[in-house]
Amino acid sequence: MPCYRCGARQTDPVRGASPWKRGVRRETQVLICPDCQRLHDLDLEACGTCGSTALICRLGEVECRACGSVRLARADAFVGSDAMAGSGAPPGLSAEVEAALNRVLGRA
Ligand SMILES: [Zn+2]
Ligand SMILES: [Zn+2]
Repeated sequence: MPCYRCGARQTDPVRGASPWKRGVRRETQVLICPDCQRLHDLDLEACGTCGSTALICRLGEVECRACGSVRLARADAFVGSDAMAGSGAPPGLSAEVEAALNRVLGRA
């Protein structure tokens, strides 16, 4: 996955942790390269509990890596995300998840 902002490709670090940062933007997991991390207009989602932008977006949920709080991703952005496209989940399951999300969001 390239940097969402400048499109740079991630290179594997020789050792240790990658300097690239993960975040969530518009309910989508994104990677930010070391250069773009210095900018202050990254437009990343922030945790509603602690304000951290160290978030992980996975199947229908956004988890904060700083404080561990989890919230549901917004359904409209969640449907058609990479997570769904690549998961191979049966259609019935995704419909069920979407219905559950709609209930939570009051759209039913
Ligand atoms: Zn970048
Ligand atoms: Zn948090």
